[in-house]
Amino acid sequence: MRAINRKMKMPKRVRIYCPFCDRHTIHEVEKVKKGRASSLHWIVRQKKRRSGIGNSGKFSKVPGGDKPTKKVFLRYKCTECKKSYQKPGFRVSKLELVE
Ligand SMILES: [Zn+2]
Repeated sequence: MRAINRKMKMPKRVRIYCPFCDRHTIHEVEKVKKGRASSLHWIVRQKKRRSGIGNSGKFSKVPGGDKPTKKVFLRYKCTECKKSYQKPGFRVSKLELVE
């Protein structure tokens, strides 16, 4: 289930579709630090909800620590129109930007 995209190498420059130019252009890829462990708050919340006595049911399985994967957001900047836009983030444990 979580075995998707463990490590990923991403070229700093990719040729993808630009919605502003309406064609494929060279884009500079920039990593955006955002959306860090958003659902971790959910875990903290659920942990507070279980209280006191008895089996905590499904919450006994709730992991306490950090998640093995982080959600990575990439910003793509078109080198031709100089506009940048973001694609929806995806989960990956490690993302490297390579030349
Ligand atoms: Zn463009």
